[in-house]
Amino acid sequence: FDRVFEVLDLKPLIRDREGARALGEVRETSGNGSAPAAEGPKADLEKGAAKGRAPTVRFDHVRFAYPSAEEVSLASLESIARTDTAPAREVLHDVDFAAAPGQLVALVGPSGAGKTTITHLVSRLYDVSGGAVRIGGTDVRDLTLDSLRSEVGVVSQDAHLFHDTIRENMRYARPEATDEEIGAALEAAQIGPLIAAMPEGLDTVVGDRGYRLSGGEKQRLAIARLLLKAPSVVVLDEATAHLDSESEAAVQRALRTALAGRTSLVIAHRLSTIREADQILVIEDGRVAERGRHEELLLQGGLYAELYRTQFARQDGDERSDAALTRD
Ligand code: ATP
Repeated sequence: FDRVFEVLDLKPLIRDREGARALGEVRETSGNGSAPAAEGPKADLEKGAAKGRAPTVRFDHVRFAYPSAEEVSLASLESIARTDTAPAREVLHDVDFAAAPGQLVALVGPSGAGKTTITHLVSRLYDVSGGAVRIGGTDVRDLTLDSLRSEVGVVSQDAHLFHDTIRENMRYARPEATDEEIGAALEAAQIGPLIAAMPEGLDTVVGDRGYRLSGGEKQRLAIARLLLKAPSVVVLDEATAHLDSESEAAVQRALRTALAGRTSLVIAHRLSTIREADQILVIEDGRVAERGRHEELLLQGGLYAELYRTQFARQDGDERSDAALTRD
């Protein structure tokens, strides 16, 4: 029983502060625009439902260290003070940037540089150790977690699908969604025809023991989910897994719809995304080492130019030959 009560007494490290406010509330009072008028599910999706209300996402001199396992268990028990723990290794040092409303910011950099960590802080999976992450001008620690997580849509590399029907997998993003809204999201994510062609349509069971979707199809379903949720901020880890070129093109089209009018932070593995980015942040050892657009950074001849040579030049070759093929 002691052990059971110990577990029941655990409090999550990240929780609402006293007086935390909903993101929508803060935005309304600060007069940052209002939601667009509804013109039916399809119209909303196609013009980017978040247009006009996408907020600025700002990292204000952010420093961050992952809490140690010891710290997590100590902090969870309120009766024990969070002292005498070894200082954790800082993985982000003075990260400072702003993604303006509707901008696409691409994060690139070597493995272990801190890109994923930056995306974790946007939806407040952890609290910063120094500085602040602000959405629409408000520190995320002053927002309710519910409102924050409903305004930030996350698409990770490996989308999780529940062993359930496509309809229920979609409703996970918005429980009250109608079949018409689900259909519009699937259509906009370039996966409508495939699902319509399945004998059981929306009732098809997917997941480990159900209908096996390919990597590209899974990602498009994840994008459809995001469209249904209609967040104003998107955090996306692009797939590194090789998709065949047809699937790749469909995913790119779906993404363009998904990101339109939303403030987005994308861990970019595709040259096409990087070229379209309003701002590229090159992350190295937990710092923003370089920033700018593709051509500017190439001209600088620094780390980005090096990354381009080792990671992206081959894709560039592929894109050029694809373009040549299309022209022929
Ligand atoms: P990749 O491109 O390989 O995904 P990344 O740039 O996304 O790398 P992060 O995953 O953000 O890098 O990792 C940054 C640093 O933080 C690394 O040194 C990593 O070992 C460390 N790290 C990541 N997650 C945790 C965690 N949960 N606890 C402790 N340290 C972590």
